[in-house]
Amino acid sequence: MEIKLTSYGATEEVTGSCHLLNIDGHRILIDCGLWQGDWENYVKNWDKFLFDPKSLDAVILTHAHLDHCGRLPKLYAEGYNGPIFATPATIDLAKIVLEDSYFIMEEKSFRKKIPRFYRQNDLLKTNKSFTPISYYQSRQLTPDISFTLYNAGHILGSAIIKIQAGSKTIVFSGDLGGQNMPLVKDVDFIDKADYVVCESTYGDRSHQAIKTRDQELIKALLRTTLNKSTLLITIFAIERTQDILRVLNDYYESHIDFKVPVFLDSPMAAQATKIYKKHLLDLNETAQADLERDRDIFDFPHLKITNNIRQSKEINKTPNPKIIMAGSGMMEGGRIIHHLAQYVSDKKNQILFMGFQVPGTLGYQILSGDFDFDYYGQKIPIHATTQQIDGFSAHADQGSLLGWLKHFENPKKICLSHGDKPSLQKFAIMIGEDLKREVEILKYNQPVILK
Ligand SMILES: [Zn+2]
Repeated sequence: MEIKLTSYGATEEVTGSCHLLNIDGHRILIDCGLWQGDWENYVKNWDKFLFDPKSLDAVILTHAHLDHCGRLPKLYAEGYNGPIFATPATIDLAKIVLEDSYFIMEEKSFRKKIPRFYRQNDLLKTNKSFTPISYYQSRQLTPDISFTLYNAGHILGSAIIKIQAGSKTIVFSGDLGGQNMPLVKDVDFIDKADYVVCESTYGDRSHQAIKTRDQELIKALLRTTLNKSTLLITIFAIERTQDILRVLNDYYESHIDFKVPVFLDSPMAAQATKIYKKHLLDLNETAQADLERDRDIFDFPHLKITNNIRQSKEINKTPNPKIIMAGSGMMEGGRIIHHLAQYVSDKKNQILFMGFQVPGTLGYQILSGDFDFDYYGQKIPIHATTQQIDGFSAHADQGSLLGWLKHFENPKKICLSHGDKPSLQKFAIMIGEDLKREVEILKYNQPVILK
């Protein structure tokens, strides 16, 4: 049996995840994510796939983040007609993520005067092709090939994919979470695999402890109150928003005199929060126990959810102090842009970044220092203080990634994807030295034969 792995994204970078496994002519695609970052990277979404989507037999999706699911509709635009397997929670989340992404693409295409890279009809086909598979339930694709999903502990519904091809086992990590994540269950350890394809986003870094990051968030809240200013929190709609809401929930419910309003100004984050409530059984024991004493761990006094543009604009009329949570998380679009224009030139205000900013994004530029923000041709200087709290990341850090890889008894090779070059190189050296395993950094469109 010949098994060939070719990666068409998330190779020596963090977006566009797309891996093709060819097992004796049977073709399975793992993820089909969007290219994100600056325009140079985003524009790659228009390129035709270097494989023929018509020839695919199945697509398996690890989780609902855009860099893993964003180009799924484009597969249908180029002739794919089969299923997309994913967990039920991933399917619910992917539908809202893809809808939002479609409108962002439409807006960008309109501004650049170029056609869209897939049509709304392809999005509808994608939504209809999602096929739910629960964790630990094995699915036969051919008499010789089957796959099983395990918990990746990253975001709600996130999965590790284990593929059995004859006597060979190949594991795709997708994105991994660490231990004791605030909401989702712990990542599953797997002990047997011949080949492991592992993400390395934080392969060169360690995260803050959960307690520290919660304190940092509360400190920012208190500074805003003392300064009578505005706190802007850039949010990622899935997992991090719910994680932040839960920390705020605990603070507000134990400090009933604290009355600073919090605006959740992101329809997608509000929708995602509803999906978290729908899939409560996928949350960890602590979150479920908390739900027994507090009916809604994502809702608290003084939280206001805006449902439309009018309500979003009215936030500006609310006197300080106030807190605004809005996306997108890397400021590539969304309502955060309008709030930035309103608040960044005042040095009393604060901007909190809740995670990794891809180079080229506005979030990355603002965090990097001196920068005038271009708001529809108007240059606005940035005087507000900026801070990054990366402990809210849903990604495993270096220690957790190594810990997860250590559980494999005797893999023939560990292949690394999803990380920028320096991070991948450091992590590869570490795997070689600490785990004494053969390691390969996956390269774009360079097949690896899994013997
Ligand atoms: Zn992810």
